[in-house]
Amino acid sequence: MKAPRPYIGMWFKCCHVYTRIYLNRDGTAFVGFCPKCGARATVKVAPGGSRSRFWKAE
Ligand SMILES: [Zn+2]
Repeated sequence: MKAPRPYIGMWFKCCHVYTRIYLNRDGTAFVGFCPKCGARATVKVAPGGSRSRFWKAE
């Protein structure tokens, strides 16, 4: 049984849309794309572990 992939909520300022982005395979960063324009968003996982669940893509 597969564990669900962790994700965070990401607000894309470029198109004013909110979506989820998921942890990459290495578990080092959350990576996702704006659903409208395809802008890439990356949020690195801090070693200490940031607990913030919401991020903004500039
Ligand atoms: Zn966009």
